[in-house]
Amino acid sequence: MNYVIIGNGIAGLSAAESIRQLDSTGHIFMISDEPLEPYCRPMISLVLQGVLDPSKLPIRKSGLYQFLNITPVLGNRVVQMDADRKTLLLSDGQILPFDRLLIATGADPRPIKAAGSHLHRIFFMRNRQHVMDMLEALPETRRALVIGGGLVGFKAAYGLLHRGVDVTMLIRSGYPLSLQVDADAGAMILRELVRHGLNVRVGAGVTAFTGNMAVTGAVLSDGSELPCDMVIIGKGVLPSVSFIPKDKVQVDLGVVVNAHMETTCPGVFAAGDVAESVDIARKTRWVNAIWPEAAMQGRLAGMNMAGRSVACNGSLSRNVIRIFDLDVMTAGWNHPPDDPRFEILTRFHPRSNTYRRLVFEGNRLIGATLVNHIESGGILMTMIQNAIPISIPRRNLLQFPISPKSVMF
Ligand SMILES: Cc1cc2nc3c(=O)[nH]c(=O)nc-3n(C[C@H](O)[C@H](O)[C@H](O)COP(=O)(O)OP(=O)(O)OC[C@H]3O[C@@H](n4cnc5c(N)ncnc54)[C@H](O)[C@@H]3O)c2cc1C
Repeated sequence: MNYVIIGNGIAGLSAAESIRQLDSTGHIFMISDEPLEPYCRPMISLVLQGVLDPSKLPIRKSGLYQFLNITPVLGNRVVQMDADRKTLLLSDGQILPFDRLLIATGADPRPIKAAGSHLHRIFFMRNRQHVMDMLEALPETRRALVIGGGLVGFKAAYGLLHRGVDVTMLIRSGYPLSLQVDADAGAMILRELVRHGLNVRVGAGVTAFTGNMAVTGAVLSDGSELPCDMVIIGKGVLPSVSFIPKDKVQVDLGVVVNAHMETTCPGVFAAGDVAESVDIARKTRWVNAIWPEAAMQGRLAGMNMAGRSVACNGSLSRNVIRIFDLDVMTAGWNHPPDDPRFEILTRFHPRSNTYRRLVFEGNRLIGATLVNHIESGGILMTMIQNAIPISIPRRNLLQFPISPKSVMF
């Protein structure tokens, strides 16, 4: 059996490990355009911050490929997939045949439309090399502009602030982490960012960058100008699907997969940030681009590729992040449409600066936001993940922390 895995991130690696557990003789090829062993992508922000040496990023001991008997094809990009011939065309001209294929190509940073985006010292923060390039530019950086108030934008801003750079965060929506949290939690986060010295501008985007070779400023949509000598674009990501024949493999935003992580093309699987599976809370297809999902989906895909039929009940968005002195946890669907079938309960405790917001649909909890006192988050996430019918008074779930007695079913 010829297994080919495109992408050596956590999804690709988890799949390779599963395959090897079940099939000790099959050939595994692992292709990646990054010439590196698998590494912990979320931790690249700690390298920027200066608290982690890049040598600590790999997630397995060196010698991984020999240990798992994998043929690595690194520094090479898949440019085309032929689903009928079951072959891949690589950027160096090689053609690689496959029996079972895993697409685990992750996601690419979402570009922005602004004149001057080609200027030097404008970066994305998606991979190790991006951060190494930022570090090289750091000695001449006094003022940085971070575009986007999401998780990656926040991590970039935090890292640069820690390095003593004067950082402005530009958030088009009214508050940070707007995809994850509501306006009340967003206002708490915003206050915390400003309290710790971050300049935050809301309600504006960038229309153009100025500078000759390197960026020296940005023109904002409200007409104002901001001087800066480094820009980080953190406007989210898009699944990496450019090489996929869309007439053979269904692609919506991501590659559509079933409960076995198999695509609409038999023998071709997808996992991780590139995959679109059923979201447990929404009950519709969604791309949940987070590390634990990528690991789980990769493991599952690997088992199914090696012939063990295993299904999952879908994916779930979840995140925990510390924003200076605030702990923020989100899980499930926190932005349902304005519809009476959804019930929303909130509680704010000013003295402990604690906030909780729960979203219910029928007798199920489908979304939770916790700001501080996040120790009850595990209980809430389990309820969402397993669609546990709620038979207790719902307000019990707003306690900080939730008392175990009050959630006995
Ligand atoms: C700065 C940062 C912070 C993050 N923080 C968190 C966090 O706190 N919590 C969390 O849950 N998640 C976080 N994430 C997201 C998390 O890193 C991803 O969900 C996870 O890495 C996805 O893994 P993956 O294996 O699907 O894809 P990736 O890790 O993106 O791996 C895909 C690999 O495939 C390669 N590739 C792509 N296209 C091709 C091609 N055509 N040919 C060959 N190779 C290709 C890519 O270059 C890459 O090496 C963060 C991400 C970033 C960037």
